[in-house]
Amino acid sequence: MLDLPLYNMLPRTSSIGIEAELIFYDEYKDLYKLVPSLDCGDKTDLSGLINDKPARIDVTTNFDFKKEKKPDYEQYIIQGWTFWIVEVNPKTKECRFLPLHFPRCNFCEEPLYNLVYLEPHNSIPYSTEYVSVVQVCLQCEDYNELSDYNWVTPMFAGFGFLYEYELDLINSRTLSKEEENLISKSISKEWEKVITETGNSISSLIRKEHNAPIAYVGQPEFVPLDYKTLEGYTHTNVYWKNHWAPDIDEIQYCSGGDVTDPR
Ligand SMILES: [Zn+2]
Repeated sequence: MLDLPLYNMLPRTSSIGIEAELIFYDEYKDLYKLVPSLDCGDKTDLSGLINDKPARIDVTTNFDFKKEKKPDYEQYIIQGWTFWIVEVNPKTKECRFLPLHFPRCNFCEEPLYNLVYLEPHNSIPYSTEYVSVVQVCLQCEDYNELSDYNWVTPMFAGFGFLYEYELDLINSRTLSKEEENLISKSISKEWEKVITETGNSISSLIRKEHNAPIAYVGQPEFVPLDYKTLEGYTHTNVYWKNHWAPDIDEIQYCSGGDVTDPR
């Protein structure tokens, strides 16, 4: 609860709404250049720039309640605005985004998100052969393969391999537990930085090429179910996600059947 006398005098339902707006505004004001919405009749709370497109944003504490208002937005979507409902949990301050203007799944009507899928090169290890943009439904796992780009770029797991090598080198020296912890912490920090930077650059290049916002960047990963027969399945390991994309680690999509070497 915020410690503001006037704010605390508001009826409880609207004060929760204002608190949600303030939490969202505070977290994203710089990233999305947020300003209070000028009244153009659509009853949104804030305006800004998301994915470099003008965005109208409705902040709520309950997605399901606001979803019903979707038809109100459609005339503005045609005029070039993008529309987002943001659900804020006032307790955890967690924000979930619902892009109303995204294409919808034919089966469940949930938004379809663009995944950049890094296809491993046939002969160059830790490198892509091409990358593709795949539209995925997170709800029913339906997908549409949209475009392929011939593009050789390092795979995420390749960076992981380098760090493992670095860790092996450290382990071969005589170090105290404390020194080891410090070094592995700094290595994983560096690894996170490489993932973020690589994901940022791949997603922004492909976004320009494909002219649509990118939610995820991932690559295939083999998941063994039986270590003796080496049977298993391949899914997409999500390494990078956009701020507004739902939080997930894997997508049940793989191109061209099984991939034996996940790197
Ligand atoms: Zn669906």
